[in-house]
Amino acid sequence: MYRTHTCGELRVNHVNQTVTLSGWVQKVRNLGGMTFVDLRDRYGITQLVFNEETHKELCAQANGLGREYVIQALGTVAERSNKNAKIGTGEIEILVEKLTLINASEVPPFTIEDDTDGGDELRMKYRYLDLRRSPVRENLILRHKMGFEVRSYLNSQNFIETETPVLIKSTPEGARDFVVPSRMNPGQFYALPQSPQVFKQLLMVAGFDRYFQIVKCFRDEDLRADRQPEFTQIDCEMAFVEQDDILNTFEGMTKHLFKTIKGVDMVDTFPRLTYADAMKYYGCDKPDTRFGMKFVDLTSDVRNSGFKLFDEAEYVGAINAEDCASYTRKQLDQLTDFVKKPQIGAGGLIYIRYNADGSAKSSVDKFFTEPQLLEIGKKMNAKADDLVLILAGGLDKTLNALSALRLEMGTQLGLRNPNVFSPLWVVDFPLLEWDEATQRFYAMHHPFTSPRIEDVALLDTDPGKVRANAYDLVINGVEIGGGSIRIFHDDLQQKMFKILGFTEEEAEAQFGFLMNAFKYGAPPHGGVAFGFDRLAAMFAGIESIRDVIAFPKNNSGRDVMIDSPSPIHNDQLKELNIALTAPKK
Ligand code: ASP
Repeated sequence: MYRTHTCGELRVNHVNQTVTLSGWVQKVRNLGGMTFVDLRDRYGITQLVFNEETHKELCAQANGLGREYVIQALGTVAERSNKNAKIGTGEIEILVEKLTLINASEVPPFTIEDDTDGGDELRMKYRYLDLRRSPVRENLILRHKMGFEVRSYLNSQNFIETETPVLIKSTPEGARDFVVPSRMNPGQFYALPQSPQVFKQLLMVAGFDRYFQIVKCFRDEDLRADRQPEFTQIDCEMAFVEQDDILNTFEGMTKHLFKTIKGVDMVDTFPRLTYADAMKYYGCDKPDTRFGMKFVDLTSDVRNSGFKLFDEAEYVGAINAEDCASYTRKQLDQLTDFVKKPQIGAGGLIYIRYNADGSAKSSVDKFFTEPQLLEIGKKMNAKADDLVLILAGGLDKTLNALSALRLEMGTQLGLRNPNVFSPLWVVDFPLLEWDEATQRFYAMHHPFTSPRIEDVALLDTDPGKVRANAYDLVINGVEIGGGSIRIFHDDLQQKMFKILGFTEEEAEAQFGFLMNAFKYGAPPHGGVAFGFDRLAAMFAGIESIRDVIAFPKNNSGRDVMIDSPSPIHNDQLKELNIALTAPKK
């Protein structure tokens, strides 16, 4: 038997018991006469003690151990005189009588401790060592628990977990597909699913009624910090439902997760906001609603002041930073630099201070009298000591910049408490997005999303105005999930493909199977998918999804541990009928 207990298990009530432990050597401390070894496994750390006087040879053996050696120790549990309240086993130690070296280790390339000296790239190259560190391991245990609770909740709601294929053909979700050549069908390729979208819809046609799957999805996109080429969704679909049924069901799942995993009670009913209002009040479709600071449209209020920027701007918007009138010149300059960053793109920042004595002072005093400034203050709901920040310019750009400024002010004012969770459904997204470059419409969600019934007529006259029966779940400004009610009639689906620029033949070739299925009694249905990695990162209180993935890829999509992607053998290429051209420089 390798062990009678784990390294996290023993307490004072085990004193005097003979035990055997196995694990990794975290640290050896030789204090002259006594040697202490911290033995680690997934469950914790236990202190082993070797007494030079009574066990000379054993002690010498212990002093020869290196970091990360795998050992087995047999001994008696004793109460410590010097207790360590920081660890669960801190009240006991093991007086070792027998030590077995199971496997030696090379010196690890970084220290395997909570605060490691290893850089990102090194940690990823030796991820199996990184995973021995408890913060990383804890994240993965948290993820496991979340998956377990998702399954338990959805099972209790009659959902059936069903696997769908990984070798499929393209499912348009707006990203590039990863493709896999078929040896048995020369010149032909599978695509890896960007999501199981069409399969879950077909399961509804099949009468499954409620489907879910915790599933890998693949998108060949340029990677940002919180993106991975393969990521995991909690993918769901329901039949005979309207939007409310879906939102209620998944509010239930979200509340269950927060309650069981984090002990957090969320608001009873998640607020809902239309896309149009999200843009109007927050300048983005995933607002952080932990704090207010909503936008106020001042465009018509500040016209004709002689200040060219305001007079010519398509949009002038403002936020009220409460109690910030005391912001110094330097702080205001820093905010100006912030909004002028290329990725934010504002031309400058205008401010109005509402002073304690009731006066108002602004950076555009040349163009506005004090009564005018006070009038603006009224509209902004500004009280004494508040600071109004104003941006002006083209509509989209300014909304975007003001959104960034609002978040920055929220951060500066400590309004984005990581222990507060503010959920929100954003609904009524536009169905279509016009793309100037290709001069065509794209589906904002995906081509299977149903327009809102009352907007269907607009499909022929003004498709850009049509609202989708689509929704996103946003928590603290992070998009956690999204979905829609689907089209379930073949004629409407066909029309949708046409609007998206497919010829009838193209639509038939790519999605004939789906439109055909709709001819055999398709029920009304809809669904949603949650980004499981992002949700796990949020629960873990970390920014990057990489730290909740056991073996993630780096920003260039590489797995630096297994060194992939990598070239394949000429024989393999030949078998696949593939000839390579020289890569583009
Ligand atoms: N398949 C969609 C996505 O991955 C989610 C859904 O519509 O259910 O975004």
